[in-house]
Amino acid sequence: MKDRINYVCAACGKKRSIPADEPTPECCKRTMNPEPLPVCEMAPSAEHSRMDDASGPCDDGSAGGNV
Ligand SMILES: [Zn+2]
Repeated sequence: MKDRINYVCAACGKKRSIPADEPTPECCKRTMNPEPLPVCEMAPSAEHSRMDDASGPCDDGSAGGNV
């Protein structure tokens, strides 16, 4: 798995993603700036908080049957 670096042009805002072992690309006759965060990796963990299922081992007491 090769690392990729996202570059953004400070002049026109164009973005490029190139392998890390390639030299810094140029755009608008200027060297592009490396972008700090990769764009297409993992989404933030907003959907990871509702992983609970209805299989809790300590959920007695809500049914209320024989005592
Ligand atoms: Zn440019």
